[in-house]
Amino acid sequence: MKLYNTMTNELEEFKTIEENKVKMYVCGPTVYNYIHLGNARPIVVFDTLARYFKYKGLEVDFVQNFTDVDDKIINRANEEGITPEELTLKYINGFFEDTEALNISQDVKRPKVTENMDEIIDIIKKLIENGFAYEKDGNVFFKVKKYEDYGKLSNQKIDELETGIRVSITEDKDDPLDFALWKKKKDGEIYWDSPWGQGRPGWHIECSAMSKKYLGDTFDIHGGGQDLIFPHHENEIAQSRCAYHGEFARYWIHNGFVQVDGDKMSKSLGNFFLLREVLEKFSGNVVRLFILSTHYRKPINFSFENMEDTKKTLQNVVNSINKFEETIGKFSGSEKKGEISSETEKFIQSVNDFDEKFVSAMDEDMNTPQALSTIFNQIRETNKFVNEVFENGEVTFEDVEALKKSYDSLKIKLQNVFGIDLVIEKKSDNSSELTNNLIELLLKLRSDARKERNFKLSDEIRDEMKKLGVAIKDNKDGSTSFEIE
Ligand SMILES: [Zn+2]
Repeated sequence: MKLYNTMTNELEEFKTIEENKVKMYVCGPTVYNYIHLGNARPIVVFDTLARYFKYKGLEVDFVQNFTDVDDKIINRANEEGITPEELTLKYINGFFEDTEALNISQDVKRPKVTENMDEIIDIIKKLIENGFAYEKDGNVFFKVKKYEDYGKLSNQKIDELETGIRVSITEDKDDPLDFALWKKKKDGEIYWDSPWGQGRPGWHIECSAMSKKYLGDTFDIHGGGQDLIFPHHENEIAQSRCAYHGEFARYWIHNGFVQVDGDKMSKSLGNFFLLREVLEKFSGNVVRLFILSTHYRKPINFSFENMEDTKKTLQNVVNSINKFEETIGKFSGSEKKGEISSETEKFIQSVNDFDEKFVSAMDEDMNTPQALSTIFNQIRETNKFVNEVFENGEVTFEDVEALKKSYDSLKIKLQNVFGIDLVIEKKSDNSSELTNNLIELLLKLRSDARKERNFKLSDEIRDEMKKLGVAIKDNKDGSTSFEIE
């Protein structure tokens, strides 16, 4: 498999350090709010990458942290009038609610900063011992210029960085480029005891400490959104290499931005969507399929129109899969012939080709849109096969086996790799169908009541349905229509 490595700016052959095992660290959210669409993208992208490794028979050791100490957390807790612990608990619970809808694999280690304070203090001590960090008035800073490779990931030179930086006179650093590893406690803020007095860690150090603890000083993949390349990942590299002298991460994988109607998503533009707002209108499966319809490194354009299109696409996929399942059930007792017709042979070949094309698309830097098109193509081939063989003429055991092979192959790719929960999607489809049928039934009862001039009952049905959010409209031509509000 090839993956694009931000460190070398090249597509590289992916080789694991340990045989058959991938060790992967992905930066997680700062839990001061419910996750938004921009957070949802790396969650889905890296979940899909992990699922694909498993599909290929690899074991995956996946770590994604929660940043539960941060300025934004402290400010938000003050705004909501609760403690930082109460705030982060609320949004960590929210994270699990939202990601459950996205069908995110459960076997991810999710360490928190507040539970790894000893490890964080240890790595800062090591950096001071190794001469890469210094303490000043209760703060500890990393000496950027001491680390020669600084800027390599983000492709920047030290002198370029220097011209771009505004000299801060409020912070007592030796050099404006230096960044904080430990911040001295301010009045009323949450703090921990340390060799440098009471305070809390800077943002970048947590990922260096936690990746070392759970994956070691050298591991395979470090991932996150493109916005993390600088300074966060650049600083993580500097810290980890200077403290532990390991290689740190071998492959740096970054996903592109989420745009809304062609603009950058931002609170000030008013086009900022929380994942749970989107999940009110669309299933987690639709969100997943939407995210994976664009290559992970390209910007993705969110709009409700695009989501509606994805919803329709998914409905077609689910309908086809259901049709295949029903056909298999209906013909499962077919007679064994011991020979395969040329048409069926050709179809079996299409299933084998599909497997190969799917893998080669995914092997090329996880090209999910290309892999999806192989799925859609195989669905078309299978529909054709069902129409031609099963809907006219004699069906043999061998035909049913061939259909089953395609059905199983499609299901594994959709469910195990793309993480689309076909059962849930079918249920939600069924429940909306059931709702519509029940509404139609009530409309019929109301119309019967009107025919019998029982207006008391017909008005009662209308009013009660209105309370449930279903508006009934009596049209001029005598027909009745409804609208779900
Ligand atoms: Zn990180």
